[in-house]
Amino acid sequence: MRTLINPATGTACAEVPDTPVEAVEAAVRRARTASAEWGEATPAERAKLLLRVADLVEAEAEELTRLEVEETGKPAAVFRDGELPFLADNLRFFAGAARSLDGTGAGVFSSGYTSVLLRRPVGVVGSIAPWNFPLVMAVWKVGPAVAAGNAVVIKPAPQTPRTTLRLAELFAKAGAPAGLVQAVTGGAEVGQALVTDPGVDMVSVTGSTETGRAVMTGAAATLKRVHLELGGKAPALVFEDADLAEMARGVAMGATYNTGQDCTAATRVYVARQVYDEVVEALRATLAEIRAGDPWDPETDIGPLISETHRERVHGFVARSGGRIAHGGAPVAGPGFYYPPTLVTDVAQDSEIVQGELFGPVLVVLPFDGEDEAVRLANDTRYGLASSIWSRDVARAMRVSHRLDVGVTWVNDHLPIASEAPHGGVKGSGSGKDMSQEAVLEYAVTRHLMIKHAAPAERDSFRPA
Ligand code: NAD
Repeated sequence: MRTLINPATGTACAEVPDTPVEAVEAAVRRARTASAEWGEATPAERAKLLLRVADLVEAEAEELTRLEVEETGKPAAVFRDGELPFLADNLRFFAGAARSLDGTGAGVFSSGYTSVLLRRPVGVVGSIAPWNFPLVMAVWKVGPAVAAGNAVVIKPAPQTPRTTLRLAELFAKAGAPAGLVQAVTGGAEVGQALVTDPGVDMVSVTGSTETGRAVMTGAAATLKRVHLELGGKAPALVFEDADLAEMARGVAMGATYNTGQDCTAATRVYVARQVYDEVVEALRATLAEIRAGDPWDPETDIGPLISETHRERVHGFVARSGGRIAHGGAPVAGPGFYYPPTLVTDVAQDSEIVQGELFGPVLVVLPFDGEDEAVRLANDTRYGLASSIWSRDVARAMRVSHRLDVGVTWVNDHLPIASEAPHGGVKGSGSGKDMSQEAVLEYAVTRHLMIKHAAPAERDSFRPA
């Protein structure tokens, strides 16, 4: 039995049993049976199921909010009024995407033959999710996989399993075939059981870069398709012509949303030297306005970090940095694992706090001289997920964005996402895409059907036509 801890109070909020490793295999077997049936479902039937689940999620908004807030400590209003409507929209998008999977058109690529491209399901998908956005991540994994005709066995993070367990129940309630969406619980051991099970055709993981490596290694023995959404260390590039008030609001929000426990969080702020002092002061003043507190208080902007261990880890980065702490920088006393928005300056580009993903509300600010140096510093980490450019010069923003090795660049904002737009990174941030039609394609196999329609002809060799 695993005791779940409410990070806002530091006390137990529930007990959830881990799935025994042997039971993972049985879940995969059930998923295989379901995938055979679901793979033959029409796009309209797949869409109908996803639309029903979206409605059920909305109908259960209060209960899902309670579970998610207890386990993560995130502000209830942020989840109920932001994340939950968004993930319902994700489900409705995937319902539409199920009906517009391309590849069914026929084409003549070789004289005398007609080719038909088919999108078939991969089969059984093993999904592994992190704790920072438990239900959003579950939907990003299950939604596109089901839309493409697959069965899914999903393992949420051990700290935050209950909304994912509930999501699996909602699929059953919405009429999914038995075993189509199942949740198993536990940590790395249960995750590896999924990764190595020969009955699983594909593994999709969102987590740290180290976990991505362990999953890829584990999946190699059975040559599974692997979908990786991993860590990040997003740069925000602030040019001298930016609207600095707008920038301070956007970067501070981008750095502290979900208490900085966001793979796309704005964590490295590179500033044109001419406006460096002004930017540090603007960020400091904005961070000072952010209200951390009780997740159920509607005035609260950010909640605690996920655990005491994680708080120690975040603070370790700050304490070892040797930089100037312009704001915050010490754990908040009292119940819960609170850590204040923190601003660190005067650190070297190759230091741990600039290079490592600390996953907390901590920004480092460094100066740059000119576009070339801004681009070089922004690209100089092992990650490549998100980035933002702050400038009034459209041509500069376009020019710089093309040179960044990342999956997404925002101009004059940081964080917004849309169901239609793909989310995913490069380099150590992984290689998969979540959301958008591209996510559905990640869970489909393209099959080629080639039909000869030319009249039989005499052949003078046994070489292919
Ligand atoms: P984590 O890597 O510790 O765990 C993620 C999941 O993987 C958990 O369910 C965990 O139990 C499982 N796991 C851990 N080791 C495993 C192993 N060896 N084999 C199989 N499964 C294993 O990550 P976390 O602390 O839960 O979440 C934070 C991380 O997730 C950060 O690095 C963050 O950047 C990343 N993240 C990335 C995205 C993205 O879209 N790229 C989104 C959210 C979070």
